[in-house]
Amino acid sequence: MPTPELLSKDQLLEVYALTQTATAVHVGESAVIQTANNAMLKIWGKDKSVIGKSLEDALPELKGQPFIDMFKKVWNEGLTISGTDTAADLEVDGEIHTFYFDFEYRAIKDANEKILCILHTAIDVTDRVLREKAIALAHENEMALEKEQALNQELAAANEDLQQTKEKLAELNTELENKVNARVIALQQSNYKYQLLNEEFSALNEELATTIEELSASNEELLNSRQHLEEKIAELAASEGRFRSLISQAPMAICVIRASDLVVVEVNEGYLEIVGKSRKEIENKVIWEAVAEAAEGYAPLMQNVITTGVAFLANEHEVVLVRNGNHEIVFLDFVYEPVKSQEGIVTSIMVVVIDVTEKVTARRSIEDVEERVRLAVDAAEIGTFDYNYLTNTMVTSDRFNAIFGVQEFSSRDEYLKVFHPDDIHLSAEAHERARQTGKMLYEARLIHPDGSIHWMRVQANVYYDEKQNPVRLLGTILDITEFKRLQQQKDDFISIASHELKTPITALKASLQLLDRMKDKPASSMLPRLIEQSNRSMGKISELVEDLLNVSRMNEGQIKLTKKRFVLSHTLNECCSHVRIGGKHELVFQGDADLEVVADEHRIDQVIVNLVNNAVKYAPNSKQIYLIVENLGDMVRVSVKDTGMGISAEKLPHLFNRYYRVDDSGYQVSGLGLGLYISADIIERHGGEIGVDSEEGKGSTFWFTLPL
Ligand code: ADP
Repeated sequence: MPTPELLSKDQLLEVYALTQTATAVHVGESAVIQTANNAMLKIWGKDKSVIGKSLEDALPELKGQPFIDMFKKVWNEGLTISGTDTAADLEVDGEIHTFYFDFEYRAIKDANEKILCILHTAIDVTDRVLREKAIALAHENEMALEKEQALNQELAAANEDLQQTKEKLAELNTELENKVNARVIALQQSNYKYQLLNEEFSALNEELATTIEELSASNEELLNSRQHLEEKIAELAASEGRFRSLISQAPMAICVIRASDLVVVEVNEGYLEIVGKSRKEIENKVIWEAVAEAAEGYAPLMQNVITTGVAFLANEHEVVLVRNGNHEIVFLDFVYEPVKSQEGIVTSIMVVVIDVTEKVTARRSIEDVEERVRLAVDAAEIGTFDYNYLTNTMVTSDRFNAIFGVQEFSSRDEYLKVFHPDDIHLSAEAHERARQTGKMLYEARLIHPDGSIHWMRVQANVYYDEKQNPVRLLGTILDITEFKRLQQQKDDFISIASHELKTPITALKASLQLLDRMKDKPASSMLPRLIEQSNRSMGKISELVEDLLNVSRMNEGQIKLTKKRFVLSHTLNECCSHVRIGGKHELVFQGDADLEVVADEHRIDQVIVNLVNNAVKYAPNSKQIYLIVENLGDMVRVSVKDTGMGISAEKLPHLFNRYYRVDDSGYQVSGLGLGLYISADIIERHGGEIGVDSEEGKGSTFWFTLPL
C-alpha cells in the first residue's frame, strides 16, 4: 500500500509561513531578508517583495531607529539581542505607526562558530501595550475629573468667602453710615465735638481702608483660584482629547460604554468594522440595542463586570454578528475592562476587541489536515513507530502492535523476538543500511503468539543531530500477508499456465517433426492422423490462450456485450458438437424449448461450452449431461447437470475465484482455474447469477440465470 507522501521543502515552508509567531531569517551585516513568514510580513506591513532586500532597503522607516545597528552587532559579534514591549515605528499602508514588540535577534552558528544567519522572531504586543496605556489614561482621566471636582468645591468655598466679605462690608457700611449720621447729628448738636468726630471719622476711614484692602486680597485669591481651575480644566480637556485620539487611532477595536445606562460614549472605526455597523447606529446608543444579536450571550457578562468590578476576558469566542444585514460567524478575543472611580465604583466599561477569525480558521485548517492524515493512516491500516537510537526505546502505534500481534513494546530487543528466526538478520541489515543511507525499506516474516506467520513491510527515515549522529528512526509498517499470498498464487498460476501450454506445444512439435520427415511422401497413411493431432494441439493452445486473453481483457474492463434476441434451446442444441461427435457423453435437453432471451449469444455459448467441458473433464463417467432451461418468471435458469463425483462442501464457495482449482495437488486434469471465473464475469455483466449445487458422490449442477 502507498505510504503518505512527505512534504517537499517548499510545502514545509508554506506550512511554516502559517505559524502565528512572526519569524524571519536574515543574512549578512545589512540583514538581507532571506525569508519571512506571513506573520512577519504582516508586522512589517509589507509583501513578499521584501525578500532578498537588505533590512534598510526593505523597511526604510527603520533609519534613525536602533534596530539596523542591532542586527549589525548581532551579525558581527554573534550575539542574541532581545527586548520586550519595545516600540518601533513602521510604515503600514503609507503611514508611520508605532507598534510594540517582544523580539529576539539570534545569531545562528554552524559547528565552527561561523555565523550562518540571524533568526528574527517577534510577537506583536501592540494590542496589549496600547490597552495598558489606554487603561492608565482612563485612570488619569478619572483622577483629573476628581481634581476638577475638588477645585470646584474650592471655588465654591472661595465664593462663599467673598459673599461673606461682601456682607461684612455692607454691614460695615451700614454701621459707618449710622455712625456718620450719629456724628453729624452730634456735630449739629455740638459743634465743639467736631474735632473729636473728625478724629473718629478718620479712624473709621482707616478701618474702612483695611476692610477694602482685605476685600481686594480676597478678590485676588479668588482670581488665582479661578485661574488654577481654568488651567486644570484645560489640562483635563487635553487629556480627554488624548484619550479620544488614542482610542480612535488604536489598531484594535475599542468601545467605551457608560456603566450607568450602557450608552456607548466612545467608539473607534475598528470596532464599527468588526460589528459591521455605522457610527450612527452605535454612538450614543444603548450597546445592546445597537448590537442586539450579541445581547443574549454577553449582556449578563457585562453586567457582572459592572457589579463585581472584575474584568471579563474572552478567548476565541465564536460570535454571530449581523454585518450589513448578513449573519456572519466570527472568532473574537475581547475584554470587558471596568474603569473605576477613586472610590472603586465602576463608571464605564472599556471593550477592546481583536478579530482572530483568520487565525482560528488557519489553525482549524491545519488541524483538519492533521486529522485527514491521521484518518488516511488509519484507513490504510498503516502502523507507525518512533525508535530512539540513544535510549534504544520504541514508541509504537496500536496498529503497529496489532501487526506484530503484541500488546505493547518497550525496547527494540523485545520486538526482535517476534521475527521469524530466518528473517531476524534482515532487520539488522536494514538498520545498517539505514545508518548509511538514512532510509530503511525491507520485508520480513513475523510469528504471532498463536504461531501464525505474517509478512510485513517496513519503511522508515533516519533523523540526525547536528553532529550527524542518528537520533531517531521514524517509520511505518504494513501487513502484506495477503499481498504475498496473491503474489504466490500468481506465481503458481504462471507455472501451471506454462505447464498447460507446454503439453500441447510438445505434441504439436512432435507432429510437425513427423510431418516434416514425410513432406516428400504425400501418400503416407499417417498424414491425416498427424494433421488431426496437430489441429487438436493447436485447438488446445488457442483455447488456453483465449482464456488468458479473456482474463486480461476482463481486468482491463474491455469485455463488451453485443446483445440480441435468440432462442436458448437452439444455442444449447447447437453447442458442444465436439462432445456429441466424441460419443462418450449424451447431451440431454430438458425444459422450455421456446424461451427467448436478449443477451450476447456468443458469450452465453462460451459459458455453456465451459460448463459442459468441465462436466466432461471432471465427471468423465457421467454418461448423460443434462442441459435444462427453466422459466422463473422474470428470470430464466440454465443448468448443466452431471452425475459425476461432485465437489466437497467446503470447496464450493471458492470455485468461481480466479486461479481456483479443486485438485491443486497435481496436474491430473488439465485446466487453469479460469473457466468458472470468466463465466461468472460474463453472467454478472448480464445482470444474472451463477452458482453450483453439488453433493460428493452424486454429481454437480452448475447453473446461471439471465433476466427476461
Ligand atoms: P479449470 O481450468 O481448472 O477447469 P474452472 O474454473 O473451469 O477451471 O474450474 C474450477 C475447478 O472447479 C476445477 O479445477 C474443478 O476442480 C472444479 N470443477 C468444475 N466443474 C466441475 C464438475 N462438473 N465436477 C467437479 N468439479 C468441477
